[in-house]
Amino acid sequence: MRSRLIQRNLRADPPLALRGEGIFLHDSNGRTIIDGSGGAAVACLGHGHPRVLEAMAAQMAKLTYAHTALYSCESAEALADLVLEGEPGGLAQMYLCSSGSEAVEAALKLARQHFVEIGQPQRRHFIARRQSYHGNTLGALAAGGNMMRRALYQPILSDAFHHVSPCYAYRERAAGEDEAEYVARLAAELEAEFQRLGPDSVAAFVAEPVVGATLGCVTALPGYFAAMRAVCDRHGALLVFDEVMCGMGRTGTLHAWEQEGVAPDIQVVAKGLGGGYQPIGGFLANRRVMDPIRDGSGGFMHGHTYQAHPMAAAAALAVQQVIREEKLLDNVQAMGALLEARLVDRLGNHRHVGDIRGRGLFWAAEFVADRASKAPFDPALRLNDRIKQEAYARGLACYPMAGTIDGRRGDHVLLAPPYIATEADIEAIVTRFG
Ligand code: PMP
Repeated sequence: MRSRLIQRNLRADPPLALRGEGIFLHDSNGRTIIDGSGGAAVACLGHGHPRVLEAMAAQMAKLTYAHTALYSCESAEALADLVLEGEPGGLAQMYLCSSGSEAVEAALKLARQHFVEIGQPQRRHFIARRQSYHGNTLGALAAGGNMMRRALYQPILSDAFHHVSPCYAYRERAAGEDEAEYVARLAAELEAEFQRLGPDSVAAFVAEPVVGATLGCVTALPGYFAAMRAVCDRHGALLVFDEVMCGMGRTGTLHAWEQEGVAPDIQVVAKGLGGGYQPIGGFLANRRVMDPIRDGSGGFMHGHTYQAHPMAAAAALAVQQVIREEKLLDNVQAMGALLEARLVDRLGNHRHVGDIRGRGLFWAAEFVADRASKAPFDPALRLNDRIKQEAYARGLACYPMAGTIDGRRGDHVLLAPPYIATEADIEAIVTRFG
């Protein structure tokens, strides 16, 4: 064993990623690999973008750290100003930390504190969805509904988290049920969960507008989020969107919820915020949530040593400026349409591809043993590992996941090219993939 690092998979020493350049990674196997998913939908500008590197060097020369107990810093202030410009969906304030999981936990604590400040301390329950992923720290893991990931830690997870069905039409819409009926059934399920817990004891409903890692780029049916919002509003609970993976332009609009026409009270962001140049995450919150906390006695009762870090914020600010100045959302939409068309063209009739789905530059294929029955492959086959290795052999890094059905069965692979991808890049990805 060469590595003293605790790797994700202790049984294998991974190759070293040596250099990144645009959409390419160069590694210690001497291979040049197309980074077709930007890691886990992180590297939204590709690798080594000169504007981001310049901004990081400039920040490094000025200030690398100052504790937020005494100071704010220029780059974090500018990042919040830019992201909140025009107060999208009424989102008016931003919190910054170092990862998606931290950001999810901060959002949950914000929701909790909000209700304490307004005199509703009995609101302690959170409702999320089955087969969801909201992070790996204990609180975020408890929020997530992937029973396989939770199993080992179940005895130490909070009992304040509950799970309802996701909107997953490919597998979970009943035979003969039309879209509106399916949405109404899901809204009724959420309503029933509120009633079971006691409607005034629920703090928030938490969901990804487009489900990333666990289900594979699953978009909701029209009207679904409006229906869920209506249930939350009826009972005075908050709506929290986890846009860690699907946000910051990945689906073709800056925020994935824009395409649902439903804004959240709190929105969690991470990966695409900083594009992987520095660890960063955070949340955006509206005035309804923040005003009682601002006016309360102690401000937000939460924080970390590296929150609003000057370097992380400088890198993210540059990423966000590039996305806007280079009008990259237009490219996400155009290249997204091309990626969809090419995937459907090459894989649409494949006997083991059950579904191709996504939005913007966020696409997945779900693999099945049998298209008609949608039966999954035997998990013992470890189809995902095989696909990852085969894609790597062909020069493509993609993001394979297992567990589309119950956390254990069901395979899908996710593609998330950078927003700077060209037609030739998309073609190269699809030909290596399919
Ligand atoms: N939420 C979602 C939707 C995610 O996809 C992820 C990461 N895959 C997280 C939260 C956790 O983010 P991190 O790995 O940065 O802690």
